Amino acid sequence: MVHWIGVDDTDSLQGMCTTFLATEIVRDLTEDFDLIGYPRLVRLNPNIPWKTRGNGAVCMRFGEGLGPPFVVGSIAGRTIEAHPRGRASSEPAAVADRVALHVERWSRFDDATTNPAFAVLSRQPTPALYWRAVRGVVSKGSAQAAARGLGVVRSYKNGRGVIGALSAIAWRPRDRTYEVLTYRAPEAWTTARRIAPESVIRMDRNFPSTFNNYDYVNDRLVIAPHSPCPVLFGIRGDDPAVLLPAMRVIEGERPERWLIFETNQGTDDHVMRRRSVKPGATVRLSGRVTSPPRAIAGGHVVFRLGDLDVTAYEPSKQFRAVVRSLAPGDRIEAIGAIRRRPKTLNLEKLFVESTAPRFRKVANPWCPECQKRAKSLGRQAGFRCPCCRKHFPLSAATFDRIERSLRPGWYEPPVGSRRHLSMPLKRIGFASDTSPPGGSVSPPAFLHARGPGGLDSEAGDAVPTLYPLDDL
Ligand code: ATP
Repeated sequence: MVHWIGVDDTDSLQGMCTTFLATEIVRDLTEDFDLIGYPRLVRLNPNIPWKTRGNGAVCMRFGEGLGPPFVVGSIAGRTIEAHPRGRASSEPAAVADRVALHVERWSRFDDATTNPAFAVLSRQPTPALYWRAVRGVVSKGSAQAAARGLGVVRSYKNGRGVIGALSAIAWRPRDRTYEVLTYRAPEAWTTARRIAPESVIRMDRNFPSTFNNYDYVNDRLVIAPHSPCPVLFGIRGDDPAVLLPAMRVIEGERPERWLIFETNQGTDDHVMRRRSVKPGATVRLSGRVTSPPRAIAGGHVVFRLGDLDVTAYEPSKQFRAVVRSLAPGDRIEAIGAIRRRPKTLNLEKLFVESTAPRFRKVANPWCPECQKRAKSLGRQAGFRCPCCRKHFPLSAATFDRIERSLRPGWYEPPVGSRRHLSMPLKRIGFASDTSPPGGSVSPPAFLHARGPGGLDSEAGDAVPTLYPLDDL
């Protein structure tokens, strides 16, 4: 058994990052303890309205390390190693006092919406806590109840951070990815980041197990945030072993420190296969398109799937072209967050199962008696011969089949417009980030095979965000 440390809600839009605080805790505690496994960056329900950016919390394990150590970072010129296993080597209270010093030093207490908390537990809370927190809404009380008797829990201000801190500890990866996060020296935090875009493209091409690096469609790098936070850039991938060589390819400003996190990013853990469409939940729904897509103010595109509106927002950019080419009768699966008012599914990913045939009328029916074309009686009302007044049904007209440009397959927004938790199609071998915009990909057998397998938890009653996509 080891000490499980969880921390959340320490940063604000004006600065700081909970992962930087994690590096400070790692820097200090590795003086006296061993780090066990990778530090973890755990994303929770992206539809929580009180999140600052990407609803991320961190978890680290410390104790007496067992097994051969491996390198996970470098902080203040010191190489940081972790052990695959470990056992506790002191009382949680002693560790908690040291963690408190860092949380109190670095948290943005000045921000009204920052409500820090941390926990030092000897065991993980139930996995159900994680599943509820990544898919629904968890109350402070129920999070605390899940950690009762497991160790020390401390919170500040309204204490909301305990939900994220404890849920991050509760994560047992069913699927996982990794991210190497690099940080700037404090004096650089408010200045513009210097990263050479060509080096990001080179890195992206040379390390195919990394993802969400460069948006080739909109020609911009997406590994760096835009906020005045300590992060220089982050590279995400499936294989932690390539992250360090990938990091070294990036040219420009030199990071002051770096740390590899194990994460639930890009896993689709937030997606439920549910018929019930509760606001705040992210669901995967299948059905037929029942209305043609229409553009609404702001550049968004809306269509109906069964009796539910589905919206592709302006920030999803070229993805909207795919959505615009849908037609009534198409069979699709839509993945997205349910927004309460107006009720709509905010589209994250789309699978086109089959497209319906579309026809264009090229001639009115021919009246064989009078050798004349019948006249239309109005929309959907059929036809009548102008001479003998004989009626003809709609189907008697001559139609040409319209070639559909939309191909069956999976579609997703460009790299820069994806949610942290959304599984990129590249991860499941369907498409590469270099594929042309709106390119279609193979059938979804593998994604179907990766369904949540009974791990669904009850989603609560979240208030959805207005803006559908996270800041990277
Ligand atoms: P980051 O900036 O690190 O990416 P964030 O800053 O967007 O993440 P926080 O500032 O940590 O997010 O704010 C999220 C708050 O919401 C935290 O207090 C957290 O405990 C709480 N929270 C997270 N998930 C849930 C949930 N499912 N239900 C209720 N509260 C949650």
